[in-house]
Amino acid sequence: MTLPIVSHSDYDAGFQPDHRFPMGKYPALMRRLDGLGLLAASRHVVPELAPVSALKRAHDATYVDQVLACRVPSAIEREIGFPVVERVARRARLAAGGTLLAARLALEAGVACNAAGGSHHARFAQGAGFCTFNDVAVAALQLLAESPDLSILVVDLDVHQGDGTASILADEPRVLTFSMHAQKNYPVRKVASDFDLGLDDGIQDSAYLELLGAALDTLLVARRFDLAFYNAGVDPHRDDRLGRLALSDDGLRARDNLVLRRLRAMQVPVCGVIGGGYDRDIDVLAARHAILFEVAAGFAG
Ligand SMILES: [Zn+2]
Repeated sequence: MTLPIVSHSDYDAGFQPDHRFPMGKYPALMRRLDGLGLLAASRHVVPELAPVSALKRAHDATYVDQVLACRVPSAIEREIGFPVVERVARRARLAAGGTLLAARLALEAGVACNAAGGSHHARFAQGAGFCTFNDVAVAALQLLAESPDLSILVVDLDVHQGDGTASILADEPRVLTFSMHAQKNYPVRKVASDFDLGLDDGIQDSAYLELLGAALDTLLVARRFDLAFYNAGVDPHRDDRLGRLALSDDGLRARDNLVLRRLRAMQVPVCGVIGGGYDRDIDVLAARHAILFEVAAGFAG
């Protein structure tokens, strides 16, 4: 069990505990992984800042420069949901570097996870919905620039639709985007992924897993993939403040197992990112995010 786990202490930008975005979940997740013995049993890797050139493959150069200089227009900061101060800019760049590193490690080891990432609402021109840089799009486009023949799958199971990822990668035929989400949830205006599955409110474990299994069957026979990014957002949980679905902890575990099992059965390397999760109890939330790492460790070579 040598799952590579990518994380950095500066993933935590130090928001107040009552902020709408639960920033404390990042250190809490690492404490939880430590408590589970997963850090000791895994390969803990610290990422570097994503190169500016990589950020500019997925985002407008002007916006990237605004973030790095902490001069994002206030109208865009309002859409993101917090001011882009120095610690926020640093964490966004580190999280993108972390997903890029985890993807590289997944290509070597089969499975790797970033203990952040999944900022799927950030689009080409700007951030939105608590997302500053779209780490998965940055990593995918950087890897494609280095290895043009790669075929990449994005499996986005965060409860919100992956509009930013879909829009950035819309004209990139080497990446297939799949989003399964609560149809009535944010964002109001969805951007079509290659494959979208919008769910009714209140769906529970068994119905969810059945739909997911069928969707993965369809995607994995359609073509062969060299790498998959998996956004394992835990906001489909029934207790989540911003979700509208009704999955249990066991349901999330079964979901992660299903995704990893199907992809690994096809020898597709998997880069897991944590995505959204909005429980007021940070330790409960961290335990929920830790499920991805517990499951992924079982698939690590
Ligand atoms: Zn979400």
